[in-house]
Amino acid sequence: MNLNNSLSYDQLLQKNSEFLWNPFTQMTQYLHDEPIIIAGGDGIKLTDVTGKTYFDGNSSLWLNVHGHHKIELDQAIKEQLDDIAHSTLLGMASVPAILLAEELVKITPDGLDKVFYSDSGATAVEIAVKMAFAYWKRIGKPHKNRFLSFENGYHGDTVAAMSIGGIGLYREEFGPLLFDCLHTPFPYTYRFPGSQKECVSYCLSALEETLETNGDEIAAFVVEPIVQGAGGMHMMPKGFLSQAIEMAKEHNVLIIADEVATGFGRTGELFAVNHENVLPDIMAIGKGLTGGYLPLAATVVANKIYDAFLGAPEEQKAFYHGHSFTGNQLGCAVALKNLELIEKENLIEKVRNKSNYLVELLEPLNELEHVGEIRQRGFMVGIEIVKDKITKTPFPQKDLVGYKTCLACRDLGLLTRPLGDVIVFMPPLVSDEKDLFEMANILISAIRQIKS
Ligand code: PLP
Repeated sequence: MNLNNSLSYDQLLQKNSEFLWNPFTQMTQYLHDEPIIIAGGDGIKLTDVTGKTYFDGNSSLWLNVHGHHKIELDQAIKEQLDDIAHSTLLGMASVPAILLAEELVKITPDGLDKVFYSDSGATAVEIAVKMAFAYWKRIGKPHKNRFLSFENGYHGDTVAAMSIGGIGLYREEFGPLLFDCLHTPFPYTYRFPGSQKECVSYCLSALEETLETNGDEIAAFVVEPIVQGAGGMHMMPKGFLSQAIEMAKEHNVLIIADEVATGFGRTGELFAVNHENVLPDIMAIGKGLTGGYLPLAATVVANKIYDAFLGAPEEQKAFYHGHSFTGNQLGCAVALKNLELIEKENLIEKVRNKSNYLVELLEPLNELEHVGEIRQRGFMVGIEIVKDKITKTPFPQKDLVGYKTCLACRDLGLLTRPLGDVIVFMPPLVSDEKDLFEMANILISAIRQIKS
């Protein structure tokens, strides 16, 4: 039975209201606004249960690489399914998990040697934090037990990931559950009272001071490289990342690169750290790893960290962490095919070229008096809507300007979600010039419409 044909929209909505709690969603508003219920996808488009199609303008939450229903990816899953869907990695292994680990070590920056799987970006970060914490204990430096990260950063919703995160709205309520973490300012140039150069210098000085004062206690510096995504699509000025990382390394602090959002071509490099030749000690990846198909994530680490967990069984030095679905075979099989296609189809170079075209397409938005800033790196775009362009005053929160703009996009056939009043545009990496043209036109119309 095809589930999609079994019930009407109204019946499904009724059941959604009765049984389903959607994530990061105010259910009162959601149920009121006739939510979309997706039934299918093809290429960069999604179809709802009523048959209406939409551009997948945020890649189904920043995941999708080659489009939906990509034949080769579908086939990879089907072939794997003929063998087995899942068996555990605890104390044993599987063919796709081993082969994917080899591939990930090859394509991630030099010095990352071992792959530890999990099932979401947050768990990949959670694992990175636990590994870094335990590493210093294992090598006799237990006082290095604190974490440093950027203000306004986002690393997922599990407890360690929230602790290192810096977005007040997501963490304040849970304050008593979180561990103490050091936060350093991110170079958010748009609202900095000074030039870009001054902003960078202010942030680097603050970082240096924190490292000078607390470096001996800091286990790791957790960084979203180049783009601070969920915090509002803020871009690091060129050169900032490499300088910040160099400083942290000088203080003997491990570097955890959270490439969950930026990895697999999103910013126009396979990984965002590649823009500035930064070599992390630990890297968290997820989202695009399976082309956006299945929940697989990974934490890739340097051998020096892996080696610290080696010993005789009675020493109990193993890394005591794992999940029921760690290294799921279907996920690993489709991830392998995703990586093969990225290379075969020369995807990264294409994203780089098309992102230049995207800059031109979005240019007319700069003329609108309520568009404060367009921030873009590769296929990661944030368009900040403001009440007053000169003073950069935002609209009152209750006006829900970002939300309403996305509803207007939806009516015109493009799906995305706002971050406050920042409209996110992150199309599947495979989107071609024609797709980008059509999507950009919808964005422009919706944003124009919201003020008129
Ligand atoms: N890290 C970053 C930088 C992210 O952007 C996200 C999600 O948006 C996460 C971690 C969490 O990933 P997940 O939602 O798969 O848990």
